[in-house]
Amino acid sequence: MLKGISMKQNQRYSVLFEPVKIGPVVTKNRFYQVPHCCGMGHLRPQAHAAMRGVKAKGGWGVVSTEEAEIHPSSDLAPYVEQRIWDKKDIPALRLMTEAVHEHGALAAIELTHSGHNAINLYSRIPTMSPVDYPINFLYPKQARRMSKKDIADFRRWHRNAALNAKEAGFDIVYVYAGHGMSLAQQFILPNMNTRSDEYGGSLENRIRLTRELLEETVDAIGDSCGVAFRFAVDEMKGKDGMQFREEGGAVVELLAEHPDLWDVNVSDWSNDSQTSRFEPNEGYQLPYVEFVKGLTSKPVVGVGRITSPDLMASLIKKGVLDLIGAARPSIADPYLPNKIKTGKIDQIKECIGCNICVSSDNFSVPIRCTQNPTMGEEWRRGWDPETIKPKKTDQHVLVVGSGPAGLECSLQLARRGYQVVLAEAKKELGGRVIFEANLKGLSAWKRVVDNRVYEIQQKNNIEIYKDSELTATHINELGIDNIFLATGASWRLDGIGRSTRKPIKGLDKIKVLSPEEAVKNTTNLKPPIIVYDDEQGYLAGVIADHLSAAGHKIIFLTPASVVSPWTESTLEQTRVQRSLLNQGVEIICNKSIQEADSKGIEAKCVFTGKRTTIDCKTIIMVTERIPNYSLFDKLIKQEEALGGSSSKNIQLIGDAESPGLIADSIYSGHLAAENFETPEIEIERAMYMREMPSLK
Ligand code: ADP
Ligand code: SF4
Repeated sequence: MLKGISMKQNQRYSVLFEPVKIGPVVTKNRFYQVPHCCGMGHLRPQAHAAMRGVKAKGGWGVVSTEEAEIHPSSDLAPYVEQRIWDKKDIPALRLMTEAVHEHGALAAIELTHSGHNAINLYSRIPTMSPVDYPINFLYPKQARRMSKKDIADFRRWHRNAALNAKEAGFDIVYVYAGHGMSLAQQFILPNMNTRSDEYGGSLENRIRLTRELLEETVDAIGDSCGVAFRFAVDEMKGKDGMQFREEGGAVVELLAEHPDLWDVNVSDWSNDSQTSRFEPNEGYQLPYVEFVKGLTSKPVVGVGRITSPDLMASLIKKGVLDLIGAARPSIADPYLPNKIKTGKIDQIKECIGCNICVSSDNFSVPIRCTQNPTMGEEWRRGWDPETIKPKKTDQHVLVVGSGPAGLECSLQLARRGYQVVLAEAKKELGGRVIFEANLKGLSAWKRVVDNRVYEIQQKNNIEIYKDSELTATHINELGIDNIFLATGASWRLDGIGRSTRKPIKGLDKIKVLSPEEAVKNTTNLKPPIIVYDDEQGYLAGVIADHLSAAGHKIIFLTPASVVSPWTESTLEQTRVQRSLLNQGVEIICNKSIQEADSKGIEAKCVFTGKRTTIDCKTIIMVTERIPNYSLFDKLIKQEEALGGSSSKNIQLIGDAESPGLIADSIYSGHLAAENFETPEIEIERAMYMREMPSLK
């Protein structure tokens, strides 16, 4: 038995460490990292291999790629996904399979032809679909109906890609019919397939192509690779889409024994990867997929932000799933399986369901994660969430402020072995997270603080001083030469934001509140109340949602053309706007505040300049934050006065350096801790690391 684990605990979770046969291959345990995007793909193969390798090292039995384009007629540019167009892609993909195999895990690849979900911006090949159909993106171009020859070509490309995948070392090869993002699914869905030949019409006809793909893939590589079928059993559109109790279930019945593995979920991506703000329940997809095992003898993997080992074990024991699927929980904690195995359950970094990981794919940059700042930095910086380089010297360090930046910085410095003093002005540790996690829908965000505070409490080299607002004099008295200032940022009240770069006139005649003030003391909220969003991130939308749910009548005013446009990148925008509308929030878009007086405000149309007056007694101002760097400035002035005779190391981190997401603050704190006492040349080397195109 492994050291430190009780016999009882070992037995409780032992079921999770049983091998599972997937066609001709066997996974060592039931932890399955399902395909997920990462913004690395074919452009950054070394970064991709290193990231997947860390997951294999962390104990995942199967580690998959993201969707892999099988042909130039399925070109996902500007998104950076995987590519297996031809044999030229094999060496890059082999980097990943080797990194995964090194740790005894199986490597899986999700072969994809995106049909009308690709614009083909790079290849400029006309896009294909079962029928003439608009492209899924805002691009005035349509996909063309596939001829019989196109279907035959597509089957040939898929077969070739499967053979190339085998040559690249993959153990599991996917046929993909999910997220509305693949041709196979587009053929299955009646709304997307109104063909009148043998590939359209009845369900039997609409699954014909998928059946052919499954049979041909098994025939091509089934001797040595497992064939997985990723299928969205429900579109979550009620009667307007595929439902698991009707055709979704019938597809499973008809193809039950065709694949070696069923990987089942819901469609589209925003339903599959729901955020905790709108779907707080762990395992939220289980009610949709639990029927699958009753219809097939093949193993079944399912997802839904499953992070608790007890739920995992019970799903296996009750026969709901054979494999615990995870995308986000494996991103937040690549070592989740090993932590369960070694009894370190209290050290699991639980995904908070914020979808910052998803946003990075939407921006075509390497993946990042709020909980796990090392995600995406495995190759460039050599980071690993479980190891950090040891301290260089016996220096002491002071961290001022315990928001995400200060907590992460102190924790990582302590892990390196330094003696750390952490001072926080408030009675509670956590900074902005404490405020935000108390807002409607964001309670899971508190894990960012809880996980870190728990780890800090296990250390004996961090002294914490709460309720201690430090001044420059206090800091001088402490006599610590290394000072990280994580003092955060404050919402400004003068109206300066994205669209207005001068203070708004007349605000002294009306009640103007910051988000914190508005939520803290709701007796201040005299109606009519305007939430003014000129930041255009997520917070104004959350504040409006929170206050209107608490019974306040809210007017949401923004120069943007939708509510909280940033939340498009986290797949939440539709839900955000729907929630406000359902709660009766009045939404006024495309208008900026020009002036205020005691009766209300004058708003200007961002297009025509036309002015309108809106009655208002209270404005909740969400426009921009001012970094809290006055303490930093004072300390630097002191240093300058000493004329270079002092050797203090004073650094701003997190929002105090540049206000951003909680993920940015965590990253900033981690980076500062990693870079402490690191030679400049090494810091620069990591900064300039990038994957260069071959000039051959
Ligand atoms: P970040 O996202 O950068 O971590 P936060 O705003 O979440 O920023 O956290 C900043 C924290 O710093 C807050 O909890 C605040 O109370 C604390 N703080 C600010 N100034 C001081 C100070 N002078 N002494 C101690 N704590 C401070
Ligand atoms: Fe989870 Fe957020 Fe990390 Fe994504 S970014 S894995 S949703 S914590």
